Amino acid sequence: MTPSLLLTIAFFILPKQTLIPSQYSGQTVTTRIKTTQKFLALTFDDGPDPIQTPKILNALKQHNAKATFFVLGRNAERNPLILQRIVAEGHTIATHSYSHRISMSPEEADSENTQTAAIVFRYTGINPNLFRAPFGLTKSNLNKNAISRKWASFNWTVSAADTATTNPEVVYKNICFTPNPGEIILCHDIKPHTAQAIPKILDHLTKQGFQFVTLPELLNQTQ
Ligand SMILES: [Zn+2]
Repeated sequence: MTPSLLLTIAFFILPKQTLIPSQYSGQTVTTRIKTTQKFLALTFDDGPDPIQTPKILNALKQHNAKATFFVLGRNAERNPLILQRIVAEGHTIATHSYSHRISMSPEEADSENTQTAAIVFRYTGINPNLFRAPFGLTKSNLNKNAISRKWASFNWTVSAADTATTNPEVVYKNICFTPNPGEIILCHDIKPHTAQAIPKILDHLTKQGFQFVTLPELLNQTQ
């Protein structure tokens, strides 16, 4: 079967994404989500990556864990089969701009968000409405544009700080240091040390009774 035929078939059979509750539409969220359950939302930014993302997907599957992937348009269009695998395995696709440039005009921001959403739709049939601003810059033109589209913009409440280290043990410690239920955890699925740390993180926190859900699932469980 050719890759293009696989892409066409997958477009029609991929599962639907969990809807984001309407009160988050057009909002920027930077705080932990209140929940009575021991839920955590693992989030991965900047992928998909042809090497690291599949390793992370394998670990998530082994632990029956779900996550949210804030993809870059430029990486999504280079790795459409991984984009489809993310959706097929029950994870949520969200967007994070096309190029990850730190500064852009309102027109460039609009174009990046349009382009990235179109790439996600082309390969998955999903109209993404969940967004994270590059570098968490909630006052950026990209975030303002996302809000004007009524997308929900989410930062994080725990950081793996995996852009500041190459040591998987540091990533493990950063995430496993006393997380509270409802925490939104930032990681990058383009980092080898993060892919290396994820199985141990999932092992440790699952044993502590935590359950890993997608961000929309977490928002739907809030009380
Ligand atoms: Zn990023």
